[in-house]
Amino acid sequence: MELNGFKFNKKFGQNFIFDKNLLSAIVKDANVTNNSQVLEIGAGAGTLTKTIAGNVKKVVSFEIDENLKSILGETLKDCNNVEVVFKDALKTNIEDIEKHFTENYSIIANLPYYITTPLIFKFLEETNKVNSITIMVQKEVAERLVAKNNCKDYGIITILVDFYGTAKITRVVSRKMFTPVPNVDSAVVHIEIQKGKYNCDSKLFTKIVQSAFNMRRKTLLNNLSQSFNLSKEKTQNWLRLANISVNARAEQLTTVDYVNLTNSYFDNISQ
Ligand code: SAH
Repeated sequence: MELNGFKFNKKFGQNFIFDKNLLSAIVKDANVTNNSQVLEIGAGAGTLTKTIAGNVKKVVSFEIDENLKSILGETLKDCNNVEVVFKDALKTNIEDIEKHFTENYSIIANLPYYITTPLIFKFLEETNKVNSITIMVQKEVAERLVAKNNCKDYGIITILVDFYGTAKITRVVSRKMFTPVPNVDSAVVHIEIQKGKYNCDSKLFTKIVQSAFNMRRKTLLNNLSQSFNLSKEKTQNWLRLANISVNARAEQLTTVDYVNLTNSYFDNISQ
């Protein structure tokens, strides 16, 4: 890489992996087959891209930094099932990403940490075509993705991920495995998507979850009554319809409780 005169760019969250065992382990965690089509976000020097390519039918990798062009050309010169797209994956709309695929696809990425949450939301909410998401994230973020209710890590992202699928931490990865070495350890999280896991309006569900956590110190009742512009009485009635204690706090409720709240919203409002 020094030969190519490449300089790591902090702004793009560039922490590359070169360890072959770790690269293979990430691909194994993704549960893909030689028939899979994979979207990678952040090709970097192409090390993970190349490992994925050896195990699946097709890889499309988005990379924001055009300075990586010559390095990627070199790393991927023998891979005929890889397409690198030099675009910002967050700013590219979902149709433009999906035109590269002929069927449902899986996502694998050693993500730049600053785009973790928006990227997860994008692929959970804007499409039905993703089979699974396997991502390297900061360890603290991984713990939030798999948290249980009543824990400090439990929050909006935990519930939204659980609404669309099932998340698990497949491995914890020391910061020493990255070049340059970042300030935090990481973990690989595998999210198996199960669309239609719950039968309810996903937009309203999301709004309710976000409103519930609006002010952490307030009760659920206060947060919901404020966000939905409902009287305390109406909100209490809504909670009762959903079988939830009127004194409950947002972090005590399970995904099923939020589904029940969503499904009883219209019953309550129409009364
Ligand atoms: N996959 C490589 C690189 C990981 S570092 C490896 O594992 O070694 C993250 C990569 O994502 C960097 O190359 C960075 O330039 C790229 N990146 C950052 N923001 C991006 C965005 N919005 N869209 C696409 N790529 C991005």
